[in-house]
Amino acid sequence: MNALNPSALHSAVFDHPEMGGHENIVFARDRDSGLNAIIAVHDTTLGPALGGCRVWPYEKPADALTDALRLSRGMTYKNALAGLDLGGGKAVIIACPREEKSQDMMEAFGGHVERLSGTYITAEDVGVSPEDMEAVARRTDHVRGTSATGLGDPSPYTALGVFEGIKASAMHVFGNVDLEGRTVSVQGLGHVGFEVARQLAEAGATLIVSDIHAPAVERARDALGASVVEAGDAHRVEADIFVPCALGAGLNARTIPEIRARIVAGAANNQLQTPADGIALKRRGILYAPDYAINAGGVISIALAKPGEDDGRVRAKTLAIGETLTRIFERAAHEDTTPEMVADKMAEERLAQAGQGTDS
Ligand code: NAD
Repeated sequence: MNALNPSALHSAVFDHPEMGGHENIVFARDRDSGLNAIIAVHDTTLGPALGGCRVWPYEKPADALTDALRLSRGMTYKNALAGLDLGGGKAVIIACPREEKSQDMMEAFGGHVERLSGTYITAEDVGVSPEDMEAVARRTDHVRGTSATGLGDPSPYTALGVFEGIKASAMHVFGNVDLEGRTVSVQGLGHVGFEVARQLAEAGATLIVSDIHAPAVERARDALGASVVEAGDAHRVEADIFVPCALGAGLNARTIPEIRARIVAGAANNQLQTPADGIALKRRGILYAPDYAINAGGVISIALAKPGEDDGRVRAKTLAIGETLTRIFERAAHEDTTPEMVADKMAEERLAQAGQGTDS
């Protein structure tokens, strides 16, 4: 057996650039099922740390640690800003979701979640299916979003919040929430994007849609009367509002100079490639709705749904995303800063008020 070099371990883990105020990091293993997972609990000031479990074939364990640390911190901010009494955490399982993941592995993961005694609550994320979460739930009650605990697919609530956020953005820029006659470019017509496009069409917006998956585009064209552009052109078409609902990092040094819309407000996670891209949008006079503020409807539905209850509480909290964004936009204008910087500050202020705060 190799001797453990304490200083190497210290620099790999404790001096990791993504290490902030993380409270607990568990390296969870199970020899029989082949489980190798990292559970990162970032901050429990506001309550138990809620955040999904991702299964991904990371090339190096260090990449998995980076993802777990970064994503768990992001969940602290997202849950705080959404007004949930929940902290932030995230789990990553190092495995190929198609070839290596197994029900035994997910059960073993559930056993590790159970050992954290409710300080971490898990849910679905990339590479995890509802059946996988049922397997996790056989070993722990600290799971949300299963058919027994939740409202099912969170995407409709994410879409509801995004639509509300688009209206708040329109109010701030155009002085009017009315979307009738506004031209909106929706990029990505998956679970969230199609539903946002449907609501926009219902509100009378002129829709331009794009997706790399041809059937998704055809469906939007036929059902919603949308016009279609190539996926790579979505950001540069003549439109009032650009709604990214595909992948992250779409707002970058290449795309931002080409954007013609006055507003960017969509569901995609991690839209800004770097913090400088947020500043570039502001310089161009484009209002950006911070992604983790506008797309919180899904986590709200996972967090607040109770078995046997209707979705009234979830809808009310999701609709409040519009008011949160209005506060963010007004404060950003007042302080001459970017909306995403204000969103971070507002989350940090809530954490500080609740007690100990977080050292980022
Ligand atoms: P999805 O996989 O159902 O849909 C994504 C769609 O984007 C697919 O139709 C895909 O073909 C398309 N796409 C991929 N690359 C593209 C490209 N380059 N150009 C155009 N289209 C492209 O995913 P989803 O659940 O709808 O989520 C969309 C985004 O919102 C993701 O970034 C996701 O992380 C984020 N998000 C989703 C939820 C949720 O509740 N589903 C919650 C918060 C954030």
